[in-house]
Amino acid sequence: MMNFEVSDIVILKKPHPCGGNEFQILRVGMDFKMRCLKCSHEIWLTRRDAEKRIKHKKEN
Ligand SMILES: [Zn+2]
Repeated sequence: MMNFEVSDIVILKKPHPCGGNEFQILRVGMDFKMRCLKCSHEIWLTRRDAEKRIKHKKEN
């Protein structure tokens, strides 16, 4: 299982409708809040959904 922290950049398996697939994590906990780096839209996902949808963390 991956360990996520606020400010991590993650790549999703499936891109956002805007075409971007890089998101920044804004909140972690029972639910994750993430912002699309391309269109700035913010989404909430349950931890379970986030773990399913995140492909990997971006190496900085
Ligand atoms: Zn987007």
